[in-house]
Amino acid sequence: ATMPPLLSAIALAGRHGVLVKSAVVMEQLADTDVVAFDKTGTLTEGHPRVVDIHPIGDVHTVDVLRLAAGAEHASEHPVGTAVLAAARDRGLPIPAASDFTSVPGRGVRAVVDGRRVAVGAPALLDELTPTAGDTAVAQARTVAADAHAAGRTAVVVLVDGTPAGVLALADRIRADAPATVTALARLTGARSILLTGDNPGAARHLAAEAGITAVHASLLPQDKVDRVRAVQADGRRVLLVGDGVNDAPALAAANLGVAMGRGGSDLALHSADAVLVRDDLPTLPAAIALSRRARRLVK
Ligand code: ADP
Ligand code: MG
Repeated sequence: ATMPPLLSAIALAGRHGVLVKSAVVMEQLADTDVVAFDKTGTLTEGHPRVVDIHPIGDVHTVDVLRLAAGAEHASEHPVGTAVLAAARDRGLPIPAASDFTSVPGRGVRAVVDGRRVAVGAPALLDELTPTAGDTAVAQARTVAADAHAAGRTAVVVLVDGTPAGVLALADRIRADAPATVTALARLTGARSILLTGDNPGAARHLAAEAGITAVHASLLPQDKVDRVRAVQADGRRVLLVGDGVNDAPALAAANLGVAMGRGGSDLALHSADAVLVRDDLPTLPAAIALSRRARRLVK
């Protein structure tokens, strides 16, 4: 017996490594006008490394890292994992922390060694009162700006409300990202855009490597949703690819949400319309092409 075209397409997509969850999704893939990519863990490998530690004031490099790692001990964010790995690599014991809170797309706070420690995006500096050591704040801003200009992710460490250091992190682009962006344009006519919570410098650096010209940076999870809605308001159908870390609401807002299978959170895997089972980005344009072909056969 021959399968209906959409079901054969689902089977074929599955063999390529794309788990398409329904016939409706298989059919709608063909309508994709814009593919919105999350950055960390989607366009990048998602395992950033701490490549520089800049202490500020009279705090030692080792203490900056130790306190930051203590605050990040329960963090599931790739930045937190990187900070913990950097401390372990140097053989530092991770101090116990209490009163842990995390702000999605911003950072973490905790009490470590009896001190209030915050680790997160340089936007944290904007929340400080101007009296909290003006030179330290200015120095932290300069170091962070330099790291951003170099295409890195800067994370500031505040101890008792004063900048104690800046960590610079680097992540690697997925090797097949540029070919995926090219294939999306050539094979399907879809335009690629980048949505990220990271800074504009790191975002532009990565976008240039990937061949993406539309970049939206410094976005909080809700800003990613607003971005998706703005593109939809232009009459375009948006497919968002993400790992579910800080982009779960945007995955839900997109016409189609596609989750990374290996790096993706459980929530993303469950709520997504399709899953790139092996985190293999080029399977996405292949699945859209399959959808187009199946639809021609249905009609
Ligand atoms: P992306 O869109 O690239 O996946 P996120 O929205 O997850 O980025 O995070 C945006 C930014 O928030 C990070 O680049 C980092 O500066 C900061 N951040 C988020 N979580 C943490 C954390 N656990 N520790 C330190 N900084 C964090
Ligand atoms: Mg992310």
